[in-house]
Amino acid sequence: MTDTELPTVPHYIGGRRVPGASGRFAPVYDPALGVPAARVGLADDDEVRHAIESAAAAFPLWRDTSIAKRQQVMFAARELLNARKGDLAEIVTREHGKVISDALGEITRGLEVVELATGFPHLIKGEHSENVSTGVDVYSLKQPLGVVGVISPFNFPAMVPLWFVPVAIAAGNAVVLKPSEKDPSAAVWLAELFTEAGLPDGIFTVLQGDKVAVDGLLQHPEVQSISFVGSTPIARYIYETAARNGKRVQALGGAKNHMLVLPDADLDLVADSAVNAGFGSAGERCMAVSVVVAVEPVADALIAKVRERMSTLRVGDGRRGCDMGPLITGEHRDKVASYIDVAVADGAEVVVDGRTVDADGDPSGFWLGPTLIDRVPIHSRVYTEEIFGPVLSVVRVETFEEGVALINSGAFGNGTAIFTNDGGAARRFQNEVQVGMIGINVPIPVPVAYYSFGGWKQSLFGDAKAYGAHGFEFFTREKAVTSRWLDPSHGGINLGFPQTT
Ligand code: NAD
Repeated sequence: MTDTELPTVPHYIGGRRVPGASGRFAPVYDPALGVPAARVGLADDDEVRHAIESAAAAFPLWRDTSIAKRQQVMFAARELLNARKGDLAEIVTREHGKVISDALGEITRGLEVVELATGFPHLIKGEHSENVSTGVDVYSLKQPLGVVGVISPFNFPAMVPLWFVPVAIAAGNAVVLKPSEKDPSAAVWLAELFTEAGLPDGIFTVLQGDKVAVDGLLQHPEVQSISFVGSTPIARYIYETAARNGKRVQALGGAKNHMLVLPDADLDLVADSAVNAGFGSAGERCMAVSVVVAVEPVADALIAKVRERMSTLRVGDGRRGCDMGPLITGEHRDKVASYIDVAVADGAEVVVDGRTVDADGDPSGFWLGPTLIDRVPIHSRVYTEEIFGPVLSVVRVETFEEGVALINSGAFGNGTAIFTNDGGAARRFQNEVQVGMIGINVPIPVPVAYYSFGGWKQSLFGDAKAYGAHGFEFFTREKAVTSRWLDPSHGGINLGFPQTT
């Protein structure tokens, strides 16, 4: 099939599919087949402007729509998404490659945020103080921002948009979502679902594109805020540029998540967790465990158990009931595989080499099997860089303190976990570790929707996490009103600074 015969993934503007008009396209691969399944039009400046203006025009009516009506839309969207999540999972698997059960898992976590958003009236209530001064009341209003931009990464094409969009919409904003160009269809599917749920046209816009679309969102004065999830260098760029342009910004970046294993831990639980969190979604999760920090003498026994479990994993096409799918592109697969050479050159021990995997799928798929590397030196790029693939490193340390110091010395602070049966050690860990999301005998501690998701250090630029109370804070701005209704006792001129009396 030539490029022009491929189906083209459209924008979604003004409540309908709009074909890309720029003449620029990116391929959208089916990673298990290794060939483009579609192409996506990449917006030019005119299309960016059109998308933002359409959202801006729709905003006032939605802002003024009653809370009760907005809530009905969220309930309807919840029902539709729950009923049809299998269809969305197929789209995610086709364009991302993760296995169907994992695609369903990410949709379920996104659905949780829609469910949270159905209860939004509680989360946008203001406060009221009566009679702060004689006859004077003060109260606060939480109002929507207007047009808000959301820019999402390839690795969760359904869940990450759902971290922000339901919260922003429920709070009364108009969203322009710029999904990853690598797997852009889930966003359009979600926008259509919200339209069917009764959302007015223009409130959920999908703008397909690359840096041109992102920069357009960052520069357009109508866009009030930017919510970004992706790699750290781009997150930093987004944070700095959006702030320079006077926008509210939250920019979630990359990760290198450590799992600290104390000698008293249940090693079967640890081995299961390390394999699930290291190789689920082929390691392309910002909360994947990529480093096991083993407090000696636990490493040899643990590695034996991890290795045993790895030998049972079936790598292959996500539609065939396999455990682990391909990587997102051939280029990314090659980059991840190149770290295995780096490990060897740096003196680490490759225990399991995923490059020899026999995948249950098309030979052209972007395959790399689960890889385990022991004795990774902490100066090696295998340790210092985010690999974002199915490569699990083991670093051996002698003490709890050494393990915590190692974790705290890293550039990222997204997630971490401790495995132990010692409550005192776990409590000390949660107190001392410089990371935003902590698991205690839980390997991927993604908070439920009514808490908030976000890391520390280079894993989050800005001070607002995603969803939960942080999400509603981010997508509303407060007004404080000081009000007096005159009664006959009022009167007189006083140029002094107002005081409460
Ligand atoms: P990415 O940074 O390459 O892309 C993210 C988004 O930014 C995409 O929409 C992309 O089109 C856009 N983009 C890419 N290059 C750009 C540029 N030069 N200028 C402007 N925009 C640009 O990230 P990715 O590869 O899609 O996703 C993987 C990364 O996301 C990993 O680093 C992972 O850790 C991170 N991630 C973090 C979290 C978190 O919550 N902290 C969650 C998921 C993924």
